[in-house]
Amino acid sequence: MDLARTDFYLDGQWVAVGPGETVAVRNPATEEVIATVPAGTAADVDRAVAAARAAFPGWADATPADRAARLDRLHTALRARADGIARTVALELGTPLKVATRIQAGLPLTVLHSYVELAARPPADETVGNSLVVREPVGVVGAITPWNYPLHQVVAKLAPALAAGCTVVLKPSELTPLTAYLLFDAIHEAGFPPGVVNLVTGTGPVVGEAIAAHPDVDMVSFTGSTATGRRISHLAADRIARVALELGGKSANIVLDDADLATAVKVGVDNAFLNSGQTCTAWTRLLVHRDRYDEALGLAARAAEGYRLGDPFDPATRLGPLVSAAQRDRVLGHVARGLADGGRLVAGGPDAPLPERGFFVAPTVIADVDPDSALAQEEIFGPVLAVIGFDDEDEAVAIANNSRYGLAGAVWSADGERALRVARRMRTGAVDVNGAPFNPLAPFGGYKQSGLGRELGRHGLEEFLQVKAIQR
Ligand code: NAD
Repeated sequence: MDLARTDFYLDGQWVAVGPGETVAVRNPATEEVIATVPAGTAADVDRAVAAARAAFPGWADATPADRAARLDRLHTALRARADGIARTVALELGTPLKVATRIQAGLPLTVLHSYVELAARPPADETVGNSLVVREPVGVVGAITPWNYPLHQVVAKLAPALAAGCTVVLKPSELTPLTAYLLFDAIHEAGFPPGVVNLVTGTGPVVGEAIAAHPDVDMVSFTGSTATGRRISHLAADRIARVALELGGKSANIVLDDADLATAVKVGVDNAFLNSGQTCTAWTRLLVHRDRYDEALGLAARAAEGYRLGDPFDPATRLGPLVSAAQRDRVLGHVARGLADGGRLVAGGPDAPLPERGFFVAPTVIADVDPDSALAQEEIFGPVLAVIGFDDEDEAVAIANNSRYGLAGAVWSADGERALRVARRMRTGAVDVNGAPFNPLAPFGGYKQSGLGRELGRHGLEEFLQVKAIQR
């Protein structure tokens, strides 16, 4: 299978890129290079932004029914490619195929479908005294996305931006660009007007910065690390461009004394290790009442040891590799530091057996973690769970909120009202009570250094609108 691509999607067509720099894409399970894609330049970004700018007036004026119909066609075209998408994510990221099918391919289809409906029914005009308050699309959106959910994070920006009437220039992560090419094949088939959606691949410092700093980009919608989010904010601030930021997390899973411990720990470990722990909302701090602490450690260790690591295409595999050698080395550095800082290894760790090839890290559980230590404070982005004890509800909430992040969290109790009370006290953009299911229509985003703005559902659409008051 030849996966290499040599083109960008600009102004409604695939445009061959002349010979030049490329980015190599590696299969993290085999460590082999599987494809190259072009490394774009600032001049490529200029072309893409010019196309998006020229397309904006027409797309902004399209009727809600027209925009909904195009998104519906995109949904159909993407659904037809779902198997290829799952396989591509398994290849370029290493997510086990079973998980990739359900989440990496399935979730974006659900999200896209939700925006077919939301595009058809945009927020109505309001009357405030003698003012008519109307909402208009922000303009040209630069979308910059990470590698850990390579299609979902793109769709979570593209679908609401297009539904709102904005035009888009996308730069996917250089580690996982192949999935974006499949999306743009579907976009081409769906037949958007030329320039409405554009793709330029390449590195963050070149293509990403050119988008973030471009005078004709009205809004930058970014998902990635807090450090890059800060850099993008600085670049956008020079021209007062709007930014939406979905950044890192260090979410706490609070298990109160009256919780169903077996379920709370099992679901908690699964959550922490989903996608090899490369999930921004992962509950990476397990907070357990001291009366049940030892029992919880035993359950967590057994759950971690039950994971089968290996080939993402083997149906028995539950945990794939990390995305890159650099990511693996970073995660192992965090584990070593956590143990040096007084953490107690109860599962996994640097000496656990691993597949011969691939950027694997064993599912690791570390107990007695000091809530102020690096292991409890830094986002690790690997299959590493820190366990911390508490004596009462107040202490649990204080530990949970002792973080510069505020993306997600969880609370478990047999008493639903008690759990809700604790959930309200957690300073995060989302909290799941007793393992409640993910809601693709609920606002998604962070408090504190986890970000600005919200994605998904109606709130996600409103990020791409601005408000005008017309007095009469
Ligand atoms: P990253 O910040 O390194 O890269 C994200 C994207 O930004 C990539 O496309 C990259 O090329 C680009 N980029 C890098 N430097 C840039 C620069 N100077 N200017 C413009 N663009 C630049 O993040 P990553 O390693 O790809 O992803 C992992 C991080 O993403 C984690 O911190 C994780 O928590 C976060 N994340 C957050 C969410 C969320 O919704 N909150 C979701 C997924 C991932």
